[in-house]
Amino acid sequence: MKPANTLLSQTGTTIFTIMSALAVRHGAINLGQGFPDTEGPADIVHQAADALLDHRNQYPPLTGLPELREAVAAANKRFYGLDIDATSGVVVTSGATEAITACLMALINPGDEVVLIEPLYDTYLPVVKLLGGVARLVRLEPPAWELPREALAAAFGPKTKLLLLNSPMNPTGKVFTPEELGFIAGLLLKHDAYAVCDEVYEHLVFSGAKHIPLMTLPGMAERSLRIGSAGKTFSLTGWKVGYVSGPAALMGLVAKAHQNLTFTTAPNLQRAVAYGLAKPDEYFATLADELQLRRDLLDTGLKRLGFITLPAQGSYFITADFSALGFTGDDMEFCRMLPEQAGVAAIPVSAFYVETPPRHYVRFAFCKQPAVLEAALERLARWTAAKALTVSA
Ligand code: PMP
Ligand code: GLN
Repeated sequence: MKPANTLLSQTGTTIFTIMSALAVRHGAINLGQGFPDTEGPADIVHQAADALLDHRNQYPPLTGLPELREAVAAANKRFYGLDIDATSGVVVTSGATEAITACLMALINPGDEVVLIEPLYDTYLPVVKLLGGVARLVRLEPPAWELPREALAAAFGPKTKLLLLNSPMNPTGKVFTPEELGFIAGLLLKHDAYAVCDEVYEHLVFSGAKHIPLMTLPGMAERSLRIGSAGKTFSLTGWKVGYVSGPAALMGLVAKAHQNLTFTTAPNLQRAVAYGLAKPDEYFATLADELQLRRDLLDTGLKRLGFITLPAQGSYFITADFSALGFTGDDMEFCRMLPEQAGVAAIPVSAFYVETPPRHYVRFAFCKQPAVLEAALERLARWTAAKALTVSA
């Protein structure tokens, strides 16, 4: 038989699925894959349930239901002062995952160069490659996750088509600063390149950090595509409703890509998300405040156990250095051992790098009920005590 698609046959199962399966097998508390362990707001779920029963279950319009497109445009205005046209400037997708692929399809011709920042989310690179794009990787390194400006500038050239930017960033929890965004914007203008902005964690920002869409910077509105996810904003990750906002000239192409990927997204979920996006500011502030408390709970507990945690200003995740625990294997070994031995699952940070990754950092998700986080910390404490690992202060 002829070989099937080589790129996909070389792509492994996602690390999130691997670690969730290990968590299930060992009855571990899953602080690996990033999903909340409680339902999203009951009123939004009721909206979706009611919407199933009022005879609007056939194909919604290709670019999304008007009420959701209008809600996305209104949210762009309310939170960031952005003027997005609800008709020509928004496309609703089946999750941010589809949105990322649709945006990359809209922009990349084979041979185009795409600047990606490591550690990077697992779908970016395979999709860039499938489209014939050539990845130019720039690395952020723990513990500071500082933007290496020289390396970033060097990654741009005449063939650069776009930069894919994830802020707030998974797995680092980094929220890009206005200065960093300004530097990036300068490079995009200099090289006449586009930005695909994965902003799924836009409302999950803590400790006074502020999420600024790159699109709000001068000259960026006409060259940026901004991606949001109802899964993250409403703690309903299984719904897979995403949305792209951008200039009409590009959004027509995003719509064509979406037409060829899924064409449309479940209408009842779209209607419920439209309702959710219109919630008062207080909803969005409380979402972040509650998550911040959970971040602090996990962070303090991990530090007490001897992990060195890195500051997380946004997202669902804390990165923790386990080298002071006395475990001598790498992060993959650590994460394969942890569910069975400690009853807790995490994600190895090396999975977010292509080559020569850092090897002693793991990612813990804190989007869990406080009692669950406490239980996970207790299990980790029992495990470290039983192993008599050396814990440095
Ligand atoms: N981008 C990033 C950075 C993510 O962490 C995730 C994971 N949830 C996604 C995109 C995918 O979002 P969705 O579930 O809406 O497809
Ligand atoms: N975004 C989630 C995470 O980083 C995982 C989503 C998935 O499993 N594909 O944990």
